[in-house]
Amino acid sequence: MEYSTIIDISVGLHEKTVVYPGTPAFLAEPTVSRATGSRLTKLTMSTHFGTHLDAPLHADAHGKSITDLPLNHFIGTCRVVDGSQAAVNISLSDAQQWEVQKRERILIKTSNSARGLDTFYPDFTYVSPAAANYLASRDIALIGIDYYSIKQKGSTDNTPHTAFLLKNIPIIEGINLKNVEAGEYILVALPLKLHGVDGSPCRAILLK
Ligand SMILES: [Zn+2]
Repeated sequence: MEYSTIIDISVGLHEKTVVYPGTPAFLAEPTVSRATGSRLTKLTMSTHFGTHLDAPLHADAHGKSITDLPLNHFIGTCRVVDGSQAAVNISLSDAQQWEVQKRERILIKTSNSARGLDTFYPDFTYVSPAAANYLASRDIALIGIDYYSIKQKGSTDNTPHTAFLLKNIPIIEGINLKNVEAGEYILVALPLKLHGVDGSPCRAILLK
């Protein structure tokens, strides 16, 4: 079978891709094998670079790593919800309107997607602590946001991460929903099989 629509919601990874302040720089260093002339590239990057998944270990030293989570979190039906009218952040009442059900995979489209993910701006739309607590309490399978963090830049309240991650709900950050309408899709966003780490870049696509 073939899907008629495949929407790539990943950002490209290159030296101009936004590096979230305080995280390691991205480097792609081409090398050539002396024996065969084969080309290889040495990559240096954060596990939270570009479009990526946060594992529980990101927020909890005893939490699950990205390979400890069952793959069904990352593949299956998902719902893109419209939060583009939200001012400043996704509030509790924004989140309540979506009537989120148990095991849903929810991707939040905000004004970030229209503004774009090509540059860093600190006043991106994020998920408020109250909305995060509410959404996590619904026992969803995954949450996503269209900028590089689900938490307000500079805030010391880490609830937008911990509410989900302490319940083993992975977070996908850095998805570009510019060309995506609210509605139902199939999500495929597999992490690399990186053992013992707190997150992973991923290629995220929506199928219809
Ligand atoms: Zn992250």
